[in-house]
Formats: sequence, structure tokens, C-alpha cells
Amino acid sequence: MRYLIFSDIHSNLEAFEKFLAQKKAKNVDKILFLGDLVGYGPNPDEVIGLFRGLPHLQAVRGNHDKVIADLESSALFNPAAAFSAEWSKLKISPDHVQYLKNLPKGPQLVDGFITICHGSTFDEDYYVFSSFEATESFRFMETSIGFFGHTHYPIVYYLRNNKIDVVPLAENTRIKLDRKTRYLINPGSIGQPRDKNSAASYIVFDSLKMELSFNRFAYDVSRTQKKIRDAGLPELLASRLEAGV
Ligand code: ZN
Repeated sequence: MRYLIFSDIHSNLEAFEKFLAQKKAKNVDKILFLGDLVGYGPNPDEVIGLFRGLPHLQAVRGNHDKVIADLESSALFNPAAAFSAEWSKLKISPDHVQYLKNLPKGPQLVDGFITICHGSTFDEDYYVFSSFEATESFRFMETSIGFFGHTHYPIVYYLRNNKIDVVPLAENTRIKLDRKTRYLINPGSIGQPRDKNSAASYIVFDSLKMELSFNRFAYDVSRTQKKIRDAGLPELLASRLEAGV
């Protein structure tokens, strides 16, 4: 089985369309999405429209999806995130709001051996930024392999003999998974990468070969930036795309 795993589209239509074009070439059986379809970017309604048509999809919701679907308030968001959340609510059709509301809460089990979640395995909003938080997330994970999003930072945490190792994912990395090790893996972000690289990123996982490949692609960042500025969204949301922060 080949899985395509990606996260954090954040209403970035240019990056998402390019991702869908990549998907065709990857010949995958199942698609796993780790949350945050919307928020920050200028095309929430269009992104939901394309996303909901994806075949063989299993997904969890993200914190922005929850707020924009009105399941939670934006009170805990920073000002740019809160502004874009309120702006997004005005742009999404009622049918698509309902779709957002129905996105499942993580963690979810995939095919009995993979866990997917947005933040961590015990709290969908909790950020795994370090080995400390990864340890907590491993404790509540029922499988050996887990994928998470939320930080927009591509990385693999390994748990072997009660010891944690960390490896940031670099372009074109391939990793052979070993059955005695547990893994928590972040594919980075499609719509707002934060590892000082503006290129979008995702993972392909082949469960037969137990092999993971990390992929990146550039997209038309300037087009998305122009839309953000034209929409009157905060300037920070445009500039950070170019810097990858
Ligand atoms: Zn996000």
C-alpha cells in the first residue's frame, strides 16, 4: 500500500493545485491529511472544493478548521490568525462550512497500524516541537507509526530502546523504517512551510517496502502573496510564505 501524506494547506490554492498535479505521478492507494485545510491563505472555499473530491482520503481536522467552522472561538489565536479566521468565515459557502464541521477529530487509526493526528496523539491542538513533547505523544499512541502536522516543520522522531532521536527531513530523503522502532513523522506543510524553505512538502510512505520518501516542490508563491495583499489580509501572511517561516 502506498500512502500520500500531507498537512496544513491553509487556503493556499496555488500550492494545493501543484500538489494535486504531483499526486498523479506518485501512484498512491490512499491519501492521509493531517489537518488545517483553511486559515491564513486567500482561497478557503476553492481549497475545500478541491479537497473534498479527493478519492481514498482519510483526514483529521486542524485548529484553524475548528475555529473557521465555528466549533471554537478565535480568542486564543494570534492577531493575524484571528483576522484571517474571521475573514475566511465570510468566504466559505454553507455547504463547505458543514464539510469543515464534519472533519474528524484526531487521533484516527488508519488501516490498523498508522495513527494520524493534527498536533499530538493526546490533544489535537498540542504542538510537538521537541523530543519532550514527542515523548508525550508516543505515550498515547497505540501504533508504531504516527504522522502529525500543526508545526509545519518536517521532521522524524524515533523511539528506540526508550531513547528518542530526531532527524529533520531534508529534500529527497528516503528512510527505511524498522519494525523495532516507533516513529512520529511530520511531512511539513503544503500551504505555509516554516523550515526556512518556501517549497511545499509531503511524504509518500510505502508500507510494503516500509519506506518513506520526503518530497518538495516549488509553486507560484508570488501569485498567492498578491492574492493575500489584494484581499487585505495581514502583510505578515504574505511575506512569511517567501521566507518559509
Ligand atoms: Zn497549520
